[in-house]
Amino acid sequence: MKLPDQISPTKQKIQIPTCPGVCVYPEQWVPLTSLENMEQVEYDVLIVGTGAGGGAALWRLSEQWEGTGKRIGVVEKGDLLLPTNGMNIATMDPERFLKYYYTVSKSPPQYPSPQVYALGGRTLFWTAVSPRMHVSEIANWPVTVKEMELYYTVAERIMNVTHSFTQGSPLTEISLDRLRKNGFPEATDEPIAIDLSPTKFGVVNSNAFFSSITFIAHALNRPFDLAVNASAVQVLVERNRVVGLKVMSPDKKPYYLKAKTVVLSASTFGTPQILLNSGIEGRVIGRYLSNHSRLVGTGLLHRSEFTERLGPLRILIPGTENRPYQFQIWGPGNFAWVQNKVQPLKEKWEVKFYGSGKVESRFENFVALDPVRRDEYGLSEIQVHFSYSEQDEIVIQQMAEAVKQASAAMKTPLLSTGGQPAICLLPPGLENHEIGTCRMGDDPSTSATNRYGQIHGIHGLFVADNSVIPTSGTANPTLTTVALAIRTADYIIHQLK
Ligand SMILES: Cc1cc2nc3c(=O)[nH]c(=O)nc-3n(C[C@H](O)[C@H](O)[C@H](O)COP(=O)(O)OP(=O)(O)OC[C@H]3O[C@@H](n4cnc5c(N)ncnc54)[C@H](O)[C@@H]3O)c2cc1C
Repeated sequence: MKLPDQISPTKQKIQIPTCPGVCVYPEQWVPLTSLENMEQVEYDVLIVGTGAGGGAALWRLSEQWEGTGKRIGVVEKGDLLLPTNGMNIATMDPERFLKYYYTVSKSPPQYPSPQVYALGGRTLFWTAVSPRMHVSEIANWPVTVKEMELYYTVAERIMNVTHSFTQGSPLTEISLDRLRKNGFPEATDEPIAIDLSPTKFGVVNSNAFFSSITFIAHALNRPFDLAVNASAVQVLVERNRVVGLKVMSPDKKPYYLKAKTVVLSASTFGTPQILLNSGIEGRVIGRYLSNHSRLVGTGLLHRSEFTERLGPLRILIPGTENRPYQFQIWGPGNFAWVQNKVQPLKEKWEVKFYGSGKVESRFENFVALDPVRRDEYGLSEIQVHFSYSEQDEIVIQQMAEAVKQASAAMKTPLLSTGGQPAICLLPPGLENHEIGTCRMGDDPSTSATNRYGQIHGIHGLFVADNSVIPTSGTANPTLTTVALAIRTADYIIHQLK
């Protein structure tokens, strides 16, 4: 019998072609560019900051400029921190979320409004409540109500704003009914920026709660350059026209980036800080700082007053022409949103009433450069000067009365717990809604930018963040910031045609 020859493995001839080299994976979860490389490019638009305003401007410009060859660059002072809104992280619960936020944020001295220096800015921690500003407020702005409605619609679509988060929850529906019948006819399911659409055909919606990281992800469909740990310290201007930006790295090395247009989106404190450090000192830059006054009421929910199944409670009582405050009503307990925490069976639960009161826009409230203190990049730090006016205090009183009325209507009587009074006022700043230090308007003596967000008198220099909002109104500001940033991006696109 003839046996086949033994074939040694080394001599075996493989007929299958070899795969090309090993895959090289990107170093980070988002593509980054070095400042050295960014110095070699002249950008059509350079954006500073990646929070709500910067992310929205980036998304709109990249979407509208598809295939045009226009160059967009982005510089972000902070590092990579979270790749999504913290509420999307499985191990988070509301308590840990808040504690982590305080751990990684930093407030200006004497004003406890913690800022997040990281890719995504404060949208990594915002709770995504996204109401529109009441039309009676917009009527005094340099943008028409009709135009705002258009841009609100665009912003709501890209941010997935929905009223359905707690739809069908017995606790929300019963409470809404009681509120509407007892003095709060406008009470509504809270509008929240959350993607509730089911996953289909392999499209995975892993980032339910919105953050600016989603803007950046959309923008990645077209090329742009992004540097982190890159602090803008000075806008470079020649003969009233922007020519670029001076940026510092953490080792205090300066880089000079060239740009036809610069969009500052470093937020209500960061944007005037850069402008003032650049010697751009309009009378109004840093002035008219506003916010919301923040009242917290605690009510007690007895199960006997509600159905067996509670579900979550998320209600908004919006501000109106005659109501200079809004309420968010959340509960039960800490279950306004949950990941994996098991809800215990309890007879009594706390519900929270969070009031946001309108605050007047006054020249006397402002941010200025600190003559002594400098940050780690060599930029002068800011000082915040803020106090409530008599009118602001009247609104706070009205809000306190309305909390009593709303808790009675809902049959959740107010109570003090754990040393906290039944109704208490947070120190200014903790609302996280500061606005106005580069407010938009037509008159340079009362506004820092024109109606499109361009700094008066300087071509190519724009602001797109909370600081351009002219007056506080009562609504949480971020949806408005995003709508205005998209509008500013459209104006830039029109200008650079
Ligand atoms: C806990 C919490 C809950 C909130 N909940 C809500 C809510 O439910 N609804 C709502 O409407 N709003 C809410 N907010 C507020 C919301 O986060 C802000 O309104 C929004 O993020 C502001 O957007 P912005 O672009 O102005 O600034 P930010 O989002 O703060 O972004 C500013 C960016 O600029 C960067 N930057 C600063 N200086 C420089 C520099 N020199 N160079 C380069 N980059 C710089 C920062 O690192 C940051 O990335 C909440 C905020 C917090 C903290």
